[in-house]
Amino acid sequence: MRLSIASYLLLIISVCFLIQFQLVRLGEAALPSTEASDVEEQARKYYELYEDIWKDLVYFPVPESTQNEEALVSYENSWMFERTYGGSYGHEGTDLMAGIQKSGYYPIVSISDGVVERVGWLEKGGWRIGIRSLHNVYFYYAHLDSYAEDFKEGDVIKAGQILGYMGDTGYGVKEGTRGKFDVHLHLGIYIRTEEIRELAVNPYWFLKYLEQNKLRCAY
Ligand SMILES: [Zn+2]
Repeated sequence: MRLSIASYLLLIISVCFLIQFQLVRLGEAALPSTEASDVEEQARKYYELYEDIWKDLVYFPVPESTQNEEALVSYENSWMFERTYGGSYGHEGTDLMAGIQKSGYYPIVSISDGVVERVGWLEKGGWRIGIRSLHNVYFYYAHLDSYAEDFKEGDVIKAGQILGYMGDTGYGVKEGTRGKFDVHLHLGIYIRTEEIRELAVNPYWFLKYLEQNKLRCAY
């Protein structure tokens, strides 16, 4: 009789222990699944922001020349390559290098519709213009030789509109500093997230996609 009571108690304790163990396991399982859904939510948001870039892409920023078949540009995936002007940092953009090294030769057109958000001199970017597109993407065109018009912040821009001409300005506090590097267009693309005001994304693949949409221009 005593033995069977002891067995009975042992059984209850074992059951209690098993239930508790299962509850702990359930608790553990519940934790990662919450984290996973947060990650999924974040991933979904970023996916949508990236999708917004595609929606605004219309033209490759350098039109094809109808006058000179040697007037080509070349670029590589130089994302986060080291740059050293004013300290060491990663390259946040793509450089479209001029085949003909002549400042002011290649026209630069707006990739997207949008509004001029920034224009004027920047120590690193030289004569630059920044266009905010309809889906809140910031397209940054730097090192221009000159502007096509006297642009002001807030000016409405159409995709394909000439913004200016490719140059070699920048890398100097003094306005108009030029000749510190080869003639090229530095293109930056930035999106805005809840946490980060300007998040740089790699323009390389967007440019590859845009190669099928080149305007033709007489130059
Ligand atoms: Zn660059």
